[in-house]
Amino acid sequence: MIDAKQVIRLLQYNDPDNVLLSVHLSVPAEVPGLREMSVRLDSMLGALDAPADHRARMALAAEVEAIRSAVTEHARDWLGHGVAIYNSAALGFHEEVAVATPLPDRVVLGRRPYVRLLLSALAHVKPYFVVVVDRRQAWLYRVEGHAIERLSRLVDEGVRDSSYGGWAGFEEYRVRNRAWELARKHYRSTAATLDSLLKDNDREFVVGGNEVNIVEFIDLLPHPLRERVAGTFVVDPHTMTAGDLRLLSGRALAERRARYEARLRADLSDWAASGLAVTDLQRCAEMVTQALVDLLIVIGDEEIPGWVCDSTGDILVDQPVCPTCGQRARRLEDVIDEMVARVVSLGGRVEFLSGPGRPGEDGRPIVGARLRHRLVRRES
Ligand SMILES: [Zn+2]
Repeated sequence: MIDAKQVIRLLQYNDPDNVLLSVHLSVPAEVPGLREMSVRLDSMLGALDAPADHRARMALAAEVEAIRSAVTEHARDWLGHGVAIYNSAALGFHEEVAVATPLPDRVVLGRRPYVRLLLSALAHVKPYFVVVVDRRQAWLYRVEGHAIERLSRLVDEGVRDSSYGGWAGFEEYRVRNRAWELARKHYRSTAATLDSLLKDNDREFVVGGNEVNIVEFIDLLPHPLRERVAGTFVVDPHTMTAGDLRLLSGRALAERRARYEARLRADLSDWAASGLAVTDLQRCAEMVTQALVDLLIVIGDEEIPGWVCDSTGDILVDQPVCPTCGQRARRLEDVIDEMVARVVSLGGRVEFLSGPGRPGEDGRPIVGARLRHRLVRRES
């Protein structure tokens, strides 16, 4: 599966004719839904504004055709997925990315690929691992979207005598101690297996089992692995099904995500209060223009039209004339996407929040920008 870094690489494509086409679709889970989807697609493509320039108009017709045939050819491979398709015939560029989550229907024409929706989807549906442990066994799974795949079952090699209960005193102690030694060994070898799965990626994992085993296992994890525990859930390994694991691990992750988003919202208002962040749309655009943003927080997925000056890079929200050079700026379908692209291209981080309430309502911010340096308050 494509990752955020690969999406950021798409930003190198730049079509001066402004007809690079980005299409986002949710593909239905079942084949009979495809007809309705292609009607939706046709109406979105039909609603695109034809460029004034003849060459650009011809180019756009080619883009639309390329998208249509890509969808006809591959829709059945994408059932139940969101898909982003990028095409620029002039640049010889065509990219199709399917993600395990729906994407809002959106078609955008521009100079470069529209990356905001795809980056947001990738941030929310990163594949992860699930490990269910007890003292003797461990079951490993990989989850991607709704799919869960069993990787392996690890069993310790220790010989166990379950009849020790009848012994008294030292012998019982010795056997129990031996059992714990074996459990510890088994937990450690499970950790080593996980470590090799996580070595070359930024994946996380969720730990399941009974409360005691979860704690024992996590306590024995080396620090770097413990950092990547994304949640825990209680499950009985003897009765669990793959469906249970998918559901319980997904719930654990969603809970953690909700806590994380709530904390980030609180942090954003603290940062804004102390001059380390701005949340006004125009101010955010200015800060991004000046490359002062190290963390951009995008709330919701609403499009905000605006302009960008191709000479000076000014991103404009309120009016089309560039304040820096005085020229008329180019129309953008979505300034938020421009901000996202700018920040990630400069090595900054972008977080996409959903959460309660519609952004923009009651003055709720739709974007927040944490700055590299605190703003100095002007003395009056
Ligand atoms: Zn300008």
